[in-house]
Amino acid sequence: MIPGSFEYYAPRSLSDAVKYLSAHKDDVKILSGGQSLLPLMKMRLSKPGYILDIGRIPGLDSIAEEGNNLIIGALVTHNQIEDSELLKKNCPLLPQTATTIADVQVRNRGTIGGSIAHADPAGDWPPAIMALDAEIKVVGPRSERWVKCNDFFLGLLMSVLEPDEVVTALKVPVTGNDKTAYLKAAPRSSGFAVVGVAVRMAMEASGVCSQIALGITGVADKAYRANRVEQMLTGKKLDSKLIEDVATESTRNVDVIEDINGSSEYRAHLTHVYVARAIQAAMQS
Ligand SMILES: Cc1cc2nc3c(=O)[nH]c(=O)nc-3n(C[C@H](O)[C@H](O)[C@H](O)COP(=O)(O)OP(=O)(O)OC[C@H]3O[C@@H](n4cnc5c(N)ncnc54)[C@H](O)[C@@H]3O)c2cc1C
Repeated sequence: MIPGSFEYYAPRSLSDAVKYLSAHKDDVKILSGGQSLLPLMKMRLSKPGYILDIGRIPGLDSIAEEGNNLIIGALVTHNQIEDSELLKKNCPLLPQTATTIADVQVRNRGTIGGSIAHADPAGDWPPAIMALDAEIKVVGPRSERWVKCNDFFLGLLMSVLEPDEVVTALKVPVTGNDKTAYLKAAPRSSGFAVVGVAVRMAMEASGVCSQIALGITGVADKAYRANRVEQMLTGKKLDSKLIEDVATESTRNVDVIEDINGSSEYRAHLTHVYVARAIQAAMQS
């Protein structure tokens, strides 16, 4: 349970960080909250020769309003999101999601940028930011770019991030009167989702759903949007029967995983149940 040896560097600027990453890109890991990286290093599943601690770079740990969006720095912790009055008022799906992550110790250290970069297929942030159509700011030696989160995750612990690129921020919309919810089924021991469902929806006074976005985690090798469910519910007046019928489409054409938490049949069934429950929870929010 002791990591291999490594050189440690904690730059004070993003440009120094990117230079260091470029110089050591085959053997370097960025350290944010360390809640995923350090366990992997202690188990020697990850043995980087160089650690780049970005914790002293100014400007990455704040949440700010910018027009109709909110900019969340990569080093903002799960706990900061849980407690943020700005987010509770303007984008409550994020604080709702934060409360479901692990325990208070992990939430105090773990960061949203680290979670997104880690691309854990059972992580809670990917489905929430997908339901919000968020964008991720990525800075590297050649360019700065905003990546749509639906294009960011490629598979198990894989994303479009290059080894010399840093996630620096997340842009999410102010969700106004939209209704949102995040529900997950998780074993108590780890807290990681067997299935987690994030919903953002707009409802007309008549009960017609004018827009809906659903992000799902824990079910496949990466989080995904339940596009077919979204299409089938948009423009419809929602009732329990319709929601439950349509929820079964949430795993169509999805390669549902199986592991110690259950078979793929069990997980698919749980997904249908949680999709229906999450939509109903959002409607009542
Ligand atoms: C006991 C336990 C329970 C947990 N339960 C949950 C849970 O229920 N739900 C959940 O979602 N998560 C859970 N986690 C994971 C936790 O949320 C982590 O905080 C998160 O996955 C990683 O964030 P971090 O800041 O700790 O990143 P780190 O561990 O520092 O880094 C993770 C990876 O991302 C890279 N990285 C970090 N920051 C950046 C960046 N800014 N740009 C580019 N690459 C970067 C690192 O090099 C590393 O490869 C749990 C962790 C533990 C230890």
